[in-house]
Amino acid sequence: MTTGPARPGNGADAPAAGIGELDAEMRRARSSYGQDAMIVCDQLVRIYTGDGIEVQALQGLDLLVAKGELTGVVGASGSGKSTLMNILAGLDTPTAGAARVAGHDLAALGPRERLAYRRSVVGFIWQQSWRNLLPYLTCRQNVSVPMRLGRIGRRERVRRTDDLLEALRVAHCAERTPDRMSGGEQQRTAIAVALANQPRVLLADEPTGELDTATAADVFAALQTANTDLGVTVLVVSHDPAVAARVRRTVAIRDGRTSTEWLRHATTDEFGNATQHAVEYAVMDRAGRVQLPREMTQPLGMRDRVRLEAEPGFIAVWPDRPPKPAEGGPAAPEEAGPAAPGEVG
Ligand code: ADP
Ligand code: MG
Repeated sequence: MTTGPARPGNGADAPAAGIGELDAEMRRARSSYGQDAMIVCDQLVRIYTGDGIEVQALQGLDLLVAKGELTGVVGASGSGKSTLMNILAGLDTPTAGAARVAGHDLAALGPRERLAYRRSVVGFIWQQSWRNLLPYLTCRQNVSVPMRLGRIGRRERVRRTDDLLEALRVAHCAERTPDRMSGGEQQRTAIAVALANQPRVLLADEPTGELDTATAADVFAALQTANTDLGVTVLVVSHDPAVAARVRRTVAIRDGRTSTEWLRHATTDEFGNATQHAVEYAVMDRAGRVQLPREMTQPLGMRDRVRLEAEPGFIAVWPDRPPKPAEGGPAAPEEAGPAAPGEVG
């Protein structure tokens, strides 16, 4: 007589994975998401509340940044860039979702760990140079402050300061206070300060926003130096779309989510000349959501819902109503069939 629960057989016709197994599978997928990435944002949400008004600054943002990458972040004003940077810097905490930097779970840090995280895991650069430097200290003294707080010995402090001032080309400003430096020199010193405790990640929120074009290029070059020579993973916010021309990868944030990415690919032409070109991608999150750019949806009158058709090798997206012939849009599928590449109507 059997008393235990009925067990499914192990034969080929055994039932598919049960709810428990699916659940475990989803948990595994969640915990392995971005396992080797330096920066992981998983469905990050930040809601500001105050005066009874709720602002959803981040609305389920997903982002992975690999170790050693220099990544640009662009987006309109108010799209959530600073909110994201402040969370990654440990200055603010997410309302929901997870953020992990260099293996540190930012939602789970206690006060002491948070301080240690901000002191030595990340370096942060503000847009306003006056926020980055203490006005009554010299360039050299500013760079040594984080090391003093981190209890680095004097000999090592001097060695690191000299190296950083050299690498960021501000050695000539060593004994000057910020008011006797140019805007570019101030921001390059700010980068040296941010790098003083040898962080794994450097976060820069519009570090060139207040600089003229030539000086901005100079500060950007300094961030590239930090990335290539010192091996720091860099995330830099810029209001300037030209940033995409300078980095391998640029991520655009729209309405609190990552929407579009540009990747620069190196190609070699038939004459052996290496050229670079940027390819634009839409970001698909883990739930399969893709944001269609307004420039593409508006001319087709796409709103509220669209029709999808799976085609061999691609997916077609159609407006739910066929556009009027006068609008010159493509024929809707029920009229002419999908306009597959290479298909003649
Ligand atoms: P960005 O840096 O891309 O310009 P922010 O992250 O600063 O955007 O802001 C995103 C949204 O959150 C905006 O609508 C902004 O007004 C709002 N916001 C930012 N900080 C706060 C705050 N401390 N309290 C309330 N709302 C805020
Ligand atoms: Mg901002």
